[in-house]
Amino acid sequence: MAERIAGAGRLKIGISACFMHADPARVLFTGKTLQYVEQSIAHWVMSTGALAVMVPSPTGATQRGDVTLEHYADWLDGLVLHGGADVSPLSYGEQPLQEKWSGDRVRDEYEIALVAAFERHGKPVFGVCRGLQLMNVAYGGTLFQDIATQVPQALVHRDAVVYDHNFHGVELVAGSRLASLYPESGRVTVNSIHHQAIKDLAPGFEVEAVSFEDGMVEAIRRSDRSQSWLAAVQWHPEFHLPGSETLDDAALLQDFLDAATAAKKTTT
Ligand code: MN
Repeated sequence: MAERIAGAGRLKIGISACFMHADPARVLFTGKTLQYVEQSIAHWVMSTGALAVMVPSPTGATQRGDVTLEHYADWLDGLVLHGGADVSPLSYGEQPLQEKWSGDRVRDEYEIALVAAFERHGKPVFGVCRGLQLMNVAYGGTLFQDIATQVPQALVHRDAVVYDHNFHGVELVAGSRLASLYPESGRVTVNSIHHQAIKDLAPGFEVEAVSFEDGMVEAIRRSDRSQSWLAAVQWHPEFHLPGSETLDDAALLQDFLDAATAAKKTTT
């Protein structure tokens, strides 16, 4: 008999799924929809001993059974909104300026419903990159569809060649919760792999970090602490390499997990 491993005391953190939509030309899983997570986001969540669970969208062509996102929101202790495809401009009332910026409306609808379910259950939600943009849109904000086109004087926030080795400075907003997690820091360096960004901030949210050279929003949080915990960053903390120049991710993750622990105590 294998030794029984006590998993019951560990936090259970949901990760929203990325979609690879059905493609009749794909060699593997031909014509099938894939829902997946990228490895380092799962490893990031697990780095402190929390258990990471992908929350599959229950809707789609092959849907069956009665499981809903509500079941996951009830069962899990918190949610991470994963990075990935663009948010569709249709999700914030705009038409795509170019076809290639149409985004993934299917994923938007799934994640907006997911955030709402976790909010109803009082469980914290942390957004990464697309997750920040999705959270902003879910609560009534808007996005730049393409930074380089709409804000030509802005920095290069996405460089396809160097990918997660594209960095820039951000200023942590003094007095913010995020700044309190990094008391030694004011200006810090983060990675930057996004071509969309917040245009209009959602009502009820505050900016916690900005790219100080061009003012792009790089971190947000719901202002009202009496409501469920919502925070997000535009960079990828899960890509941080220990010892590198970019902002250490540990305090950020721990703050989210502390909120998950607190929610667990009040909901059970
Ligand atoms: Mn950036």
